[in-house]
Amino acid sequence: MNPDPDYSAAYVVLETDRPGMEGHGFTFTIGRGNELCVAAIASYIPLVVGKTLEEITTNMAGFWRVLAGDSQLRWTGPEKGVIHLGLAAIINAIWDLWAKVEGKPVWRLVSDLTPERFVSLIDFRHIQDAITPEEAIALLREQEAGKAERIAWLEANGYPAYTTSAGWLGYDDDKMRGLLRQAMADGWKAIKIKVGVDVEEDVRRSRIVREEIGPDKRFMVDANQVWEVHEAAAWMERLAEFNPWFIEEPLSPDDILGHAKVGEAVRPIRVATGEHCHNRTMFKQFFQADAIDVVQLDGCRLGGLNEVLAVLLLAAKFGKPVCPHAGGVGLCEVVQHISAIDYVAVSGTCDEAMTEYAAHLHEHFVDPAVVKSGRYVAPSQPGYSTELKVEAIEHFRFPDGLAWA
Ligand SMILES: [Mg+2]
Repeated sequence: MNPDPDYSAAYVVLETDRPGMEGHGFTFTIGRGNELCVAAIASYIPLVVGKTLEEITTNMAGFWRVLAGDSQLRWTGPEKGVIHLGLAAIINAIWDLWAKVEGKPVWRLVSDLTPERFVSLIDFRHIQDAITPEEAIALLREQEAGKAERIAWLEANGYPAYTTSAGWLGYDDDKMRGLLRQAMADGWKAIKIKVGVDVEEDVRRSRIVREEIGPDKRFMVDANQVWEVHEAAAWMERLAEFNPWFIEEPLSPDDILGHAKVGEAVRPIRVATGEHCHNRTMFKQFFQADAIDVVQLDGCRLGGLNEVLAVLLLAAKFGKPVCPHAGGVGLCEVVQHISAIDYVAVSGTCDEAMTEYAAHLHEHFVDPAVVKSGRYVAPSQPGYSTELKVEAIEHFRFPDGLAWA
């Protein structure tokens, strides 16, 4: 589905009147269309510029609603597509700024909030039939007791991750075996490959994976939306002997009822989706329809961290593990904070969950994601880890950066 990505980002810098204090955020795209996201971001400028950080953060759900609910901009969504990607970039930049002002990484800033303050960040419009603010507060209160221990555990051990870097389509067998052996040597305990073009090929490649990683490590497959419902079920019947932990994005990301049917057909193989699930209302329906087993939310497709927090709460209420989508440019940097928040403050567990990791483009970030022995090291620098190096921005900025000369 995505054969020729040209990794890009629509990048926001929020400047302040305090020298050196800026918020950086972005939304991720795979090339053409990035300029549409830039235009979406620009359309929000009158709603953002001139505000104080305090005005925004004292009623952040209200501020979020002002942007997402702007009656004219909303017409182009609502809360989906280009306009929502633009919103995500701005909201994430605000979080980066807020966390830098507080001198904390974002995951720690959120984890240190009281349940009431946490819930005040979230717009509950359209999800109250699934979770109310009162239920959310109760859920967060239950996790209060173990928070300090979990923070200490996370800082000592890191958060479980899995890698997609060994199993892209188009790698020959030798390259794949080499990458899998390296991944095992590096301490990875979970591996994902892309599938969906040719079932015989996928059977063969899955066999190679199991031969290399053994029977006990987690193996997952990702179809990137290419199948019809009946194809997904038949394909997974062929791959079932390799004991995949989940099938990711079997169908159109909007096909909630289709995912429910696939789930019925393939369980105990889990159905994973969410990287293209565009808002909390869609996620709510996936949960209500029993159409999702593994929650792969995307920190730059939902409307920034505030809406992500709503989905974390929904996932905890419905008892589904959150394994955020990453890869691309900067998504690993973002989702490491999200998983940490989920573990410390919301679900209180990472027994089932793990975060995606792809080993590219981290060198362009000021505070890059770091993985050791298959686990994300908890971010320690203030901010959302979303700031690109000045050299990277200058070199790659379109169209005047040197990279485009
Ligand atoms: Mg995917």
